[in-house]
Amino acid sequence: AAKKQGKQRFLLYEPAMQAETECRVRLKNGLRRALQKQELYLVYQPVYRIADGHIHLASFEALARWHSDTLGLVSPAEFIPVAEESGFIIPLGEWAIREACRFIATAIGDTGRAVTVFVNISMRQLLGNGFVDKVCGILNEQDIPASCLGMEITESVLAADFKACVGILEQLKALGIKISLDDFGTGYSSLTYLRHLPIDVLKLDKSFIDVLGEAEGGKGEVLAAGIIQIAQQMGYQVVAEGVERLEQLRSLIGRGCDYYQGFYLSKPLPVPEALELLPESVVKRKVDFFTAGPAI
Ligand code: C2E
Ligand code: MG
Ligand code: MG
Ligand code: MG
Repeated sequence: AAKKQGKQRFLLYEPAMQAETECRVRLKNGLRRALQKQELYLVYQPVYRIADGHIHLASFEALARWHSDTLGLVSPAEFIPVAEESGFIIPLGEWAIREACRFIATAIGDTGRAVTVFVNISMRQLLGNGFVDKVCGILNEQDIPASCLGMEITESVLAADFKACVGILEQLKALGIKISLDDFGTGYSSLTYLRHLPIDVLKLDKSFIDVLGEAEGGKGEVLAAGIIQIAQQMGYQVVAEGVERLEQLRSLIGRGCDYYQGFYLSKPLPVPEALELLPESVVKRKVDFFTAGPAI
């Protein structure tokens, strides 16, 4: 009976596994051509600050989008892991930094004002050959100050090779690039390593935000408030990510959070709409040299 059951299971599971592999192979092959075919583009999600009862644009986060001609719109949650595994994250990541820097150059050209854009960086990219030099090259080529560029790294990045990562982050920070710790609280969260990290910003993960505003004084509220306080006392600025409701925003304002990001405030925007948010934005030039795509 056991043997029979084993066989049944085998028959049940194999097609699913095969489908999974086929899917990854299709994504991998599609990605290889996506850059040349200009199927990839960045959208920009605003990060806001609140002062005197008004919301002010503080920075943007650049998020990759892939509109494949055969697969349709593919989520970065699907294609980024595939790109990391195949090594394609190196050219993709470099493209994302260059594209974000072109956006910054355009924003400065149109408004005469600096704007900061944070780009998500994978571990393989950060630890890849000559990463710091490559970034310097892009900043020079686009003729923008390093202080306009930010990088978001996750805790999983740090888990792999903490010392090497810290070394590179220090070099980037010395250039003036802002470093943000993304999705804080989801990975191997340990408060002790926070001391050794050369970061400017801590992004409180959406999972902490989700529980806010439900029960005042609940454990979720206490935890978020505590992390915000600790981070600020360590000299870091705190961004709350994934703010979806007014109660969450109210709660965070009450806790003295520095910056807010989420669908309640704005979804990620295509280039022209992002540029329109900039103060004194004239958007003189046409921006169609950016691969335009739909929002989200
Ligand atoms: P992330 O860096 O933590 O980005 C936040 C994600 O949450 C984004 O999903 C964003 O669209 C979404 N989001 C923002 N506000 C809200 C909200 O209020 N509610 C909900 N439910 N979601 C919200 P997205 O764009 O699908 O990106 C997923 C992840 O893919 C990112 O997580 C990031 O880790 C990765 N990623 C995206 N672009 C790049 C890239 O260019 N390079 C690398 N290495 N990773 C990237
Ligand atoms: Mg991010
Ligand atoms: Mg995040
Ligand atoms: Mg996240």
